Amino acid sequence: MSVKNSVVVVGGGIMGVQAAWHLAQLGQTVTVLDQFDVPNQWAASGDHLRVFRLTYGKDRFYTEMARKALPLWLELNTLSEETLLQQNGVLELATKENGYEAQSLAVLKESGVRCERLEPTELRRRLPMYSPRAIKWALFHPDGGMIWANRAVAATASIAQRKNVRIRSNVRVTQILKDKNGVRAVKDASGRVWEAERFLFTAGYWTGELLKSYGIPIKLTRQEQLFLRPLSNRGRYRPEHFPVFASLSQGFYGFPVHLHGFIKIGNHNKGPVVKKADPDQLRSLTPKFEKSCRSFLRKFMPELADFTEFEGHVCWYDNTPDNDFILDKLPDVPNAYIAAGFSGHGFKFAPIVGKSMAELMVAGKSELNLHRFRLARFKLKKPR
Ligand SMILES: Cc1cc2nc3c(=O)[nH]c(=O)nc-3n(C[C@H](O)[C@H](O)[C@H](O)COP(=O)(O)OP(=O)(O)OC[C@H]3O[C@@H](n4cnc5c(N)ncnc54)[C@H](O)[C@@H]3O)c2cc1C
Repeated sequence: MSVKNSVVVVGGGIMGVQAAWHLAQLGQTVTVLDQFDVPNQWAASGDHLRVFRLTYGKDRFYTEMARKALPLWLELNTLSEETLLQQNGVLELATKENGYEAQSLAVLKESGVRCERLEPTELRRRLPMYSPRAIKWALFHPDGGMIWANRAVAATASIAQRKNVRIRSNVRVTQILKDKNGVRAVKDASGRVWEAERFLFTAGYWTGELLKSYGIPIKLTRQEQLFLRPLSNRGRYRPEHFPVFASLSQGFYGFPVHLHGFIKIGNHNKGPVVKKADPDQLRSLTPKFEKSCRSFLRKFMPELADFTEFEGHVCWYDNTPDNDFILDKLPDVPNAYIAAGFSGHGFKFAPIVGKSMAELMVAGKSELNLHRFRLARFKLKKPR
């Protein structure tokens, strides 16, 4: 029996499945198409962990948006009966008195978010792995933590399926079919045509390619991460004792031990721009990145710096020129939408992005003001 879709979502990463679930809650008949499995290891959402932080320096908008996402993550924890958002807190290491962390602290206080300023001696008392010489002070917010990313995709997909959302894996959309009324259907690599009243494109770092005719300015950067096993004192790096850490002035962030006793470290500073993501590089590591992790650790967490067991992981950011997301309707058609360009910091917002896109697509406007994320801030090509 064929089902008449009100919405087809192209891309089953966290944004696609969250939007699908919210669309279903608004009474829509939804099918999600993904070129691989949902979740899959090539997608940005297919990794194990993502940071959930409420701090964005002086940028109140993102702090507010993270605050709006928080109850939705907690609701997902309840519905899935899993700890997808694990609130083990986020600790941010300040190397100067009046930098990014001081701006974050001011915004958190103003917004009534629970937070603490820790002086070096207190930091050392609580978390003896940190070197008080390198750190001027630290900002701790206990409501932050880490999201089990691929499990969150799987759990959302399964909750959405209970609301009759259909998830179709191994369906690669290759063509968008338009007529005078807008987008009529999408066609997959096997030639099958998927019709719907409305379409949402959430194809992650493949979105630029899929919507090539619009010339959406998304640039991919190659981002390295390193997994290392502490040589000693492993117990004190467990999530119950060791919060997510970040030193955004250096770009570094990291997670407690998880998966076979490994800690993960990444760097949020933008890596080299690449034309295309290369899946063969997924498990690679450059000596340069390994060296930079060691020197960061030597300075901030010396007992971790001489790691001997380690491996690399590569992921790609889908960056917009201003690092703000794209959450909008496509300009030339009345029935197709885009949620992309998450620029390496979207995961934490996924539930509020999904909810807002669903509202925009069904009611024409969302409770969250999406003005900052409109496509019109860029010069686009006139689509064919
Ligand atoms: C290394 C790294 C670290 C990050 N750290 C954080 C963090 O700590 N905190 C945070 O908030 N965010 C973080 N992010 C960002 C976050 O992971 C992403 O913003 C988020 O996962 C994007 O989700 P998405 O659904 O848009 O894309 P994806 O998860 O990439 O999903 C897109 C899906 O679309 C499918 N697809 C693509 N093309 C087609 C097609 N033609 N047909 C059918 N299906 C298609 C793909 O197979 C894929 O499953 C990080 C990102 C990276 C890469």
